[in-house]
Amino acid sequence: MTIDTERFRTELLNERGRVEAAIANLRDSHPGRLDDEVEEVGAPSDNHLGDTATATLGREIDYTLGENSEQVLTEINAALKRIDDGTYGICAKCGNPIAPERLEAYPWASLCIDDQRLAERR
Ligand SMILES: [Zn+2]
Repeated sequence: MTIDTERFRTELLNERGRVEAAIANLRDSHPGRLDDEVEEVGAPSDNHLGDTATATLGREIDYTLGENSEQVLTEINAALKRIDDGTYGICAKCGNPIAPERLEAYPWASLCIDDQRLAERR
């Protein structure tokens, strides 16, 4: 079975764009700013609903990535390099293929599920 690496490359590039935007957003954000924006709800404004939705979405990205964003970015770049090297989808530890459904969920995965569980148990 062969892996469609070009499709994963596209996914990884898209994901890298999102992570880089989130990191830039984190660096620019000020603590407590979301609360200020939410208090605007109810104020007379034609587009306050749109502003609130945008602020909430930004906070969700912050929460999802948090301090892991730099780590994810590193792993995405490593996965893109593995595509170039022709080793994408191969477990870095045992050399067995990584399950396709795992790659669907984590396109930057470098370990099969068994080795990932072992690594997390340390
Ligand atoms: Zn493995």
